[in-house]
Amino acid sequence: MSIQFYDTPSRAKRAFEPLIPGLVRMYSCGPTVWDFSHIGNFRCFLFYDVLKRYLRYRGFRVEHVMNLTDVDDRIVQQVNDKRATLEAYVKTFIDGFFVDIDALQIVRADHYPRATQHIPEMIELISRLIDNGVAYEREGSVYFAISRFPGYGDFAHLDVTGMRAGARVDTDKYDKDDVRDFVLWKAWIETDGELAWDSPWGRGRPGWHLECSCMSMKYLGETFDIHTGGVDLVFPHHQNEIAQSEGATGKQFARFWMHNEFINIDGVGMSKSLGNNLRLRDIRAGDDAAQRHDDITGFRYFVVTNHYRTTLNFSREALDGATNARQRLNKLYARLVTLGTDGNDLDGSNWAQQVDAARVAFVEAMDDDLNAPRAMASVFGVAAAVERALSATSLSQASAALVAAFLAEVDAVLGILDEAGTTADIVIYNPELPEALDQMLHERQRARDLKQWARSDELRDTLAEAGVAVIDTPEGPTWTWTGSTSS
Ligand code: AMP
Ligand code: ZN
Repeated sequence: MSIQFYDTPSRAKRAFEPLIPGLVRMYSCGPTVWDFSHIGNFRCFLFYDVLKRYLRYRGFRVEHVMNLTDVDDRIVQQVNDKRATLEAYVKTFIDGFFVDIDALQIVRADHYPRATQHIPEMIELISRLIDNGVAYEREGSVYFAISRFPGYGDFAHLDVTGMRAGARVDTDKYDKDDVRDFVLWKAWIETDGELAWDSPWGRGRPGWHLECSCMSMKYLGETFDIHTGGVDLVFPHHQNEIAQSEGATGKQFARFWMHNEFINIDGVGMSKSLGNNLRLRDIRAGDDAAQRHDDITGFRYFVVTNHYRTTLNFSREALDGATNARQRLNKLYARLVTLGTDGNDLDGSNWAQQVDAARVAFVEAMDDDLNAPRAMASVFGVAAAVERALSATSLSQASAALVAAFLAEVDAVLGILDEAGTTADIVIYNPELPEALDQMLHERQRARDLKQWARSDELRDTLAEAGVAVIDTPEGPTWTWTGSTSS
């Protein structure tokens, strides 16, 4: 059984294994903090969250980085219009972002790098691209030369030979060798006001695509495992990230690309001009705290129990439906953990077997490109059977505990119950050590037998990195998962 993820450039599901056994390095395009994030953005961040939680459940440690875009045309304009400082302006939206992700119980990333705090690294990356002959300077701006990067367009399956400026690879108004070239460094113009940084090409600011190449490679290395984002970013943003990163390093950038579909509202796309740009705080019915909690967790339930690659339509009815389904599981869980009277399991009910089968079905569905709807069908199968047994008082406390433990595991992955625990004590479903780690464990033992202590310590550290603690016993080494170490 292996995990399969749909990889955008392959247009197919591929078996997933990280480059470093046991450790998944993952980068996600984060919010542009020019405004509060809307529920579409949160669909995206919830997709990252379930992906990360599921990888942890399957025994991987996950190193996760999400950028905060804190300089772009909109921010520059707002800061100058409002005569604010950039710091003061973006603070409101960065703070708001963290309040919202906490309310949604999204596990925090390990790093949230901000573009404006990585200007020297971005300048260095641009210099590397110029040295490699794939970027050039014009009147204080620097552009990426698409014609010098063979395969530009392959990622998004686009034929770019006849592409014009109108195709929106880049919409700035500076002179370039080729209309298709996109900007890496934008020379200062009058409307930028004070918002400019020094560079070898004069004052200016970085292009948007550059920050993701720069900050992902800084925190995760030149080649890492998974890059995520919404489908709107496939082109040009992610294609340009690949060109910039691979144009600099000559190595593969991200090994898997995963993209979530959009969420619409009552059948139409969200936009400021339509006035249907819902923020998280807009979906609650009133100021009542319990209602707010129900709506926000109901929204989470709605998003995470649907498939991340289907377009979702948000409506009050959809939210109510999700809230009801969530409450049903919540109530069931509460009854199971507080079961006062010990019923008698019916002959042949074999709850251990039923729960195991449901767990296997849950894992198989999630292994199959995070098929949450199918995974939830197995959860509701058991839930319905248990509800029947409870109303007939034919459930023992021991069986109730087995079912509750399974629901807590489901909760560790999807984060949908109120009381099942926190992600800090996430359960790990991985009865076996992956082969590469198993070999490392044996190699460490051989090193010990040969008294090669430095080598054996080194392997112990590598195993620890992958979340495996080695325990030496008189009968030889054993191991245990140390659980999540990434947050
Ligand atoms: P932004 O703040 O616009 O840079 O977007 C942050 C993330 O949200 C990006 O990965 C987008 O692809 C994603 N996103 C934007 N709108 C939606 C939507 N309606 N549904 C799902 N994801 C979205
Ligand atoms: Zn990005």
